[in-house]
Amino acid sequence: MCFLCQNPEAKTLQTLTSLICCYCPNLTRLPLISALTSLNCYGCRNLTQLPSLPVLTSLNCSRCSSLTQLPLMPALTYLDCAQCPNLTHLPKWLSTLTRFYCAECSNLTQLPSLPALIELNCSGCPNLTQLPSMPALTVLYCRQCPGLTQLPEILALTSLNCSRCPGLTQLPSLPVLTCLDCNQCLNLKQLPDIPFLTELNCAGCRNLIQLPELPILTFLNCAGCTWLYCSPGPWLFPPNPDYEQNVRQLLYLQTWFRRWARLKQMQRWVRSEEFNAWYYSPGQPGQLRSEKRWRISCVKRPREDEESGVRKRSRYEPEGLEADL
Ligand SMILES: [Zn+2]
Repeated sequence: MCFLCQNPEAKTLQTLTSLICCYCPNLTRLPLISALTSLNCYGCRNLTQLPSLPVLTSLNCSRCSSLTQLPLMPALTYLDCAQCPNLTHLPKWLSTLTRFYCAECSNLTQLPSLPALIELNCSGCPNLTQLPSMPALTVLYCRQCPGLTQLPEILALTSLNCSRCPGLTQLPSLPVLTCLDCNQCLNLKQLPDIPFLTELNCAGCRNLIQLPELPILTFLNCAGCTWLYCSPGPWLFPPNPDYEQNVRQLLYLQTWFRRWARLKQMQRWVRSEEFNAWYYSPGQPGQLRSEKRWRISCVKRPREDEESGVRKRSRYEPEGLEADL
């Protein structure tokens, strides 16, 4: 039990400007402390509500799994409410907030209006379907948000991580972006013009066909981009003169291995009991063939010395077969 639980009505609390009360399982609610500017109640799993704190600028309430909503906090600039799985409601207007972390809030369906926000991490929020307009945002992490089908136009964005968002088919205009991580965005078909991009990780984007002109790119990871065609750019200079020939040879090799694999499959099938049972069953090639061979082995062409005379019977030739032929 922490000091706060033991002295909920203590007068000294009213002069507090900063409070850290992490990991207290007994804390269910906080008293109204009007002078508080910084509060860290990380991991208080039974905390169900917070009071409206008029001058609070910094709040860390992450891993407070019983919190369902946050009150209006008009001076807030920093908010970390990550891993609050029952949080469904945020204040509609967080006009002073500049840094906001709400990763892994699995029941959050929408974000408030955030006109001053500079940095946002809303990764791992499966029910988030759209993001608000954030004109001042420069850093955005929205990894593993399967509900997101599009991103708003964020003109100031310099760093974007939208990896593993299968709902995204395209990205908005990103005129000053320098770093983009969109790996495993399986349905992303194209990228917009991003003239200032220096780092791009688009590994595993299987539907990405072409990259735009990226004149100052210094890092590129496009592993597993099966259909990506890279036009020779500065990062590939000098172009490999054997490229086309190598691709043709690889395709031949691929065809050869596919045929070889099919042949191996066929061999296994031919050796199987199932195949044998079918092949030698009545009316199937195996039986017909063995009959034919039997006949062929029985009927020999007469030798020259026999042509005029009586044909000698072979030692191995069964009697009475000629009549059947
Ligand atoms: Zn306590």
